[in-house]
Formats: sequence, structure tokens, C-alpha cells
Amino acid sequence: MEKLFSNRKIVVYHKFCSNHQLEAHLSILQKEDVLITVDDGDVSFYKYLFPLLHKYKIPTVLFIITELIDTNKPFWWDELVYLLGKEEGEKRVWEVKEWPNQERVAYINQLRVESDKPSLKQAQLTTEQLKEMERAGVIIANHSHTHPMFNQCSEVELRDEFRQSKHFFDKAGLKGFNLFAYPNGNVNQLAEKVAKEEGISHAFLFDHKLPAKKYDPYRISRLSITDQTRPSKLRFILSGWHSKILPLRRSIYKLING
Ligand SMILES: [Zn+2]
Repeated sequence: MEKLFSNRKIVVYHKFCSNHQLEAHLSILQKEDVLITVDDGDVSFYKYLFPLLHKYKIPTVLFIITELIDTNKPFWWDELVYLLGKEEGEKRVWEVKEWPNQERVAYINQLRVESDKPSLKQAQLTTEQLKEMERAGVIIANHSHTHPMFNQCSEVELRDEFRQSKHFFDKAGLKGFNLFAYPNGNVNQLAEKVAKEEGISHAFLFDHKLPAKKYDPYRISRLSITDQTRPSKLRFILSGWHSKILPLRRSIYKLING
């Protein structure tokens, strides 16, 4: 595992909207010996990226949110946008990430109850699809049970997240529980301590950085890209210069496209 994660450039994708530029991406990533990671386990990974992977043989890790597998439950941030409308919803997603976890959960529950819209459904990956991808060489790994912000959780909530996702991995017979990407990259000392105690061996950030000079298996840096990132921009991002001129994490979403 150390060979796979230390001193290697690592990119992170989320959702995929199309495969238009993915082959161009994969040939660049292959040449640079990059590790691909994908957060959240959106079904678009299975549709767009997974079918291309056998051709390029690039190591790939898919970080899943275990409570969503085999369900039609939406990502909570998509549900917030759905319930509040695009403009207010997107603003509120950023706000609630800074609230204590219980308050975020209670707020979304309340909105759901008060809304007269039909409940939002989102197709999620199935255990069978995860097993198929694991057999094909994709590492199916852990992105928590419900995707809370780990720096906003109590110790009880943190342990519960790890135990519930562990239960899912064990039951499904999937191997990657111990590889963990912090939701939104949010981490503090308590979250890191609990992660170690609950059996996590490697933890990944969302910091848009090249590998740190001193490798720390609990703070592994990743470069953020999307399927819309132009190939020339992807090369620029892999050079490390993009991270230097882009210190604000919140701007990453806006600037990595195009
Ligand atoms: Zn995530």
C-alpha cells in the first residue's frame, strides 16, 4: 500500500457528467503514474470511468458512502439544493458544513418534513456493482457511513460512522474499509485519533496539493479535478503550480473546471 500512496501524485474526482475528455485524462494520468481517487461513489463513476479503466490500468480507488449503497437515497447536499432551490441551497450547503453535526442533521430533517415537494430519489450503486468493480481491480474504499463533517462530530458520532461502515464492508465482503477519505477533507485531532483507533490505516485529504515532502499516511494530499477539466489544465494542475496559486479550498470547485 505504501508504494501506491506515498510520493505519488493523487487526483480526486467526484461526479462524472460525460466521458468526453476522460480518455485524454487517462492517457495523461497513466504517463505520470498518478493514482486516481473518486469520492462519494456516484453512479456516474460506474457509467463513465469504470468502463475505460481496464484499457489504461491506472490504480483507482472509489470512496463510498456506505449508508447509500443499494438505496435511492440522495446525497444530503443535493437534497438541500433540491429542497431550498439552487441559489439558496448551494449557499446553505457551505454554511451547514460548519455547524455541529447534530444541528446539520436536524436542520435537513426539518426541511424535509416541512417541504411539500415529493422526496428526492437518486439511484445509488449496488453491492453487486461494487463487487464487480473490486473484482476488476478498483479498490472500493471508505468515505464514511453518512458523510458528516468529521471536524463537527462528537467522539460518539465518529465511532458510530466507522463502525457502521465497517459493518457494511464486512457484510458485503469488500476489502477497503481501512482506506478512508475524510468527507470534504475535514479533519481535526479527535477525528484522526478515532480513525486510527477504529482501524483506519490510510486517510486522504481534499486539499488540492501535491504529495507532502514528509509522507503521513493519515494526511495524504490529493489534487482536485473534474471530468470537465481541459487536458492542458490537467497537466498544469499535475505540475503543482495550480495549487500554489489557489490556496482557498472553497474556490477549488469553481476553478478546477474548464
Ligand atoms: Zn465526499
